[in-house]
Amino acid sequence: MEKVAIITGASRGIGREIAKTLAKKGIKIVANYNKSEKEAKELKEELQKEGYKIEIFKADVSKKAECKDLAKYTLEKYKKIDILINNAGIDKYQLITEVSQEDWNEIINTNLYSAFCMCQEVLQNMIHNKNGCIINISSMWGIVGASTEIVYSISKAGLDGLTKSLAKEVGPSNIRVNSIAPGFIETDMNKEISNQEKIDIINNIPLEKLGKTEDIAKCVNWLIEDNYTTGQIISINGGWVIT
Ligand code: NAD
Repeated sequence: MEKVAIITGASRGIGREIAKTLAKKGIKIVANYNKSEKEAKELKEELQKEGYKIEIFKADVSKKAECKDLAKYTLEKYKKIDILINNAGIDKYQLITEVSQEDWNEIINTNLYSAFCMCQEVLQNMIHNKNGCIINISSMWGIVGASTEIVYSISKAGLDGLTKSLAKEVGPSNIRVNSIAPGFIETDMNKEISNQEKIDIINNIPLEKLGKTEDIAKCVNWLIEDNYTTGQIISINGGWVIT
């Protein structure tokens, strides 16, 4: 039977690439978006034209009630959820002294609480089916910490904590939970970075190049096929950080 996947923040960047890769494997996709309706509709049209199964669903996943709606919609449409990709995320460059309560709430809720809530919403079905694959898109900065991205780094470290604890809790139900921790992937998230800054970054990367969205999607593809990897934080960063 065809698998069913929810991907949060799938209208662009890494999430969009994951949606395309999984749809082309014959997986039924529910691609979540929040603000980018036009891009989400284009993605749906593009994949449906090629004969793949994809639905789009608007939800602000930083809010528990909207996570509930997203899971409910998927279950009503496809009757099960096999794969959850917690990809939605935001970043802000600030000194610690500049971070307001609103900034904290926005980043933590979008990057971490969203994943926690989505896991809560899909797990009943996965446990019932004794089958599931959850992938959290965290970040290299959750492992090593980033100056001026403190809340982002905290949120991603938290996401890795979620991965490790949940892997232990739901492993007996044949549910695997892993994080993918990218380094620098060229997307809209880092479009403000200048060419000189990119050159400086590349000079610190052993593979001497930035990452592409495909590099992350390939790892997602592998994790879905795998059946013995859980609780792991998989770094994809060209060797920028080796722990
Ligand atoms: P992006 O900004 O292109 O994509 C982020 C997506 O999340 C967007 O589609 C956005 O609309 C969505 N989103 C944000 N808030 C949302 C909300 N409340 N509800 C639903 N969707 C929401 O950036 P990206 O690079 O594709 O990032 C994808 C993930 O990868 C993020 O979690 C990011 O932190 C992580 N990541 C990216 C990089 C990188 O270098 N690009 C590195 C490490 C980790």
